[in-house]
Amino acid sequence: MTLHIETPLIQSRPLSLAAGRSIWLKLEALQPPGSFKIRGIGAACEIHARQGKRRFVSSSGGNAGIAVAYAGRNLSIPVTVVVPQSTTERARQLIRQENAELVVHGETWHEANELALSMLGPDDAFLHPFDDPRLWEGHATLVDEVARSGPKPDAVVLSVGGGGLFSGVVEGLRRNGWGDVPVITVETRGAEGLARSLEEGRRVELERIESIATSLGARQVCQHAFDLARQHPVRSCVVSDLAALDACERFLDDHRILVEPACGASLAIPYQVRDMLPEGNILVVVCGGVTASFDQLRKWRAALAE
Ligand SMILES: *Cc1c(COP(=O)(O)O)cnc(C)c1O
Repeated sequence: MTLHIETPLIQSRPLSLAAGRSIWLKLEALQPPGSFKIRGIGAACEIHARQGKRRFVSSSGGNAGIAVAYAGRNLSIPVTVVVPQSTTERARQLIRQENAELVVHGETWHEANELALSMLGPDDAFLHPFDDPRLWEGHATLVDEVARSGPKPDAVVLSVGGGGLFSGVVEGLRRNGWGDVPVITVETRGAEGLARSLEEGRRVELERIESIATSLGARQVCQHAFDLARQHPVRSCVVSDLAALDACERFLDDHRILVEPACGASLAIPYQVRDMLPEGNILVVVCGGVTASFDQLRKWRAALAE
């Protein structure tokens, strides 16, 4: 038993028609805690549990923190999540709902993270949201499942925040003999750390994040993701918040699944920028995300219309 589930891989008729390509969706939005994050975080938590750790600590108020809380509840290990005051009521509630201890501290993530690190005792494990080889290994199982059931993709489309998902998917492609499959990395404008880094040939640190796709809001991609992006065939793509939001709404109509703009960014490629895509079978990682509600989508729509 793993903490993540094997998710459906479906061929999407509406997206295939929109893109003029065969679009395959890996539905990570259906993971119990709502995103692919549980693959890597679940794997890492199981390793920590086997090594005798007695508590998991996270400083993520997003899908990573929710995945740690979910993993801890299922492994009967207490979890503490430290988040800054800016964390939405919805995210707080999702973390508490998993029975985790929620500590609200500081104005920025940096302050919350400092407190989380200072709390660590010898029996505690800190779970980083993206920069950990144990996570990449867990995320790679997503590709193992595709390799067992679907055709070899001609390209993979996925969203990039800190680069954990990207690192895991490339690892998965390589270990399944698909190391030649190009990856289209998608970010929103205002959170385009990888795109800027590839342009400038060094790991750029963004001064601030200016995008509604908060789950893509790492100020800097991890070194491993940056190195991989320069070895593996990658096409980096930046979309607007509006394109990501449009894609969330269309996807809700087409597949009745509500995802965050972080995921809408990837869906915007087949919906709106099909020329980016090669012919053939395209695998889109529907990474999911639970921090956006229907009401929140409407608020963003109203704000972006101004
Ligand atoms: C974390 C997350 C991402 C970005 O993943 P990274 O590993 O940080 O690149 C994208 N979408 C969703 C929904 C996420 O939760």
